[in-house]
Amino acid sequence: MKTFKIKTEKLDIPLKRTFTISRGSRNAVHNVLIRLEADGITGIGEAAPNHRYDETQDSAMDFIAKLGDYQTDAPYDVQALVAHMDQYGTGEYAARAGLEMALFDWIGKKCHLPVYKMLMAPSNTGPRTTYTFGIDKPEVMKEKVADAAPYPLLKIKMGTDYDKDIILSIRELTDKPILVDANEGWKTTDQALDMIRFLKHHNVYVIEQPMPAHCVKEMQEVRLKSEIPLFADESITGKESLTELATQFHGINIKLMKTGGISTSLKIIHQARKLGMQIMVGCMIESIIADTASALVALWADHADLDGHLLVADNPCKGMKILPEGHVQIRDVPGLGLM
Ligand SMILES: [Mg+2]
Repeated sequence: MKTFKIKTEKLDIPLKRTFTISRGSRNAVHNVLIRLEADGITGIGEAAPNHRYDETQDSAMDFIAKLGDYQTDAPYDVQALVAHMDQYGTGEYAARAGLEMALFDWIGKKCHLPVYKMLMAPSNTGPRTTYTFGIDKPEVMKEKVADAAPYPLLKIKMGTDYDKDIILSIRELTDKPILVDANEGWKTTDQALDMIRFLKHHNVYVIEQPMPAHCVKEMQEVRLKSEIPLFADESITGKESLTELATQFHGINIKLMKTGGISTSLKIIHQARKLGMQIMVGCMIESIIADTASALVALWADHADLDGHLLVADNPCKGMKILPEGHVQIRDVPGLGLM
């Protein structure tokens, strides 16, 4: 029997710039740092709770506090931890993801192995990541183009009544490929299709969540008519039928904070591949700890959107790297790749 001590700490980090999406603005993140300790080894994880899913920093910390110490005969069995957490109720996916991440980190450190090797990832280098712009007036967007100079792909948040102006002002400055995230911001099929036709002429390679998650029939029509691949984000939390989602979207954006962790995310990727869907791995606004765990999952993906750690003012440690061409890379060190 092994006893893991679990400790949480508030991880409050200011953002470099105010970040606005169609649901609101923020200036800081209020995440949770998780430490899981046994045998003198500490595994590190991070939870980035999301109001969209009724989670807060306090609710995540309360969930983990409820678990107490984790006693197990199977310390290397991540599924045993997942089953253990399931006994303490539903929801709190960010907290679950943070704790599972900490166990993966602990196992890797204990076995002196990078987790990407333990999981037999195809490589430690994944797809190119985007650099995200929140919603802003077109003049501010121009400053952000300068911030994004080192990154080859841009992600632009939409869902305003001046979406086309945003794209046009960016296109005056750069022709970098753009991933558009509407965050459920387009309310009718006509509006969505009009935007897709416009974006098709402006080198947009993926559109995330054009319409609200409840617009199932509408999205089925939009998918059939769209010439740009459409990815589900708010429409997928991990509990939906992927077969059904495949009628609305060409791909899915997987986030550890929504699925509850690395192991469930990998299962979803394998199921989605069987349905011919494309895969993106995204993030919440989170530090390099959670982004590194996400980059690990992105080793199996087509697209990555892992720039949370670039948007926060400082990071608690080092972790995933972004190579000069924009590819994400996991460090060759024991555990998740943090140091
Ligand atoms: Mg999104």
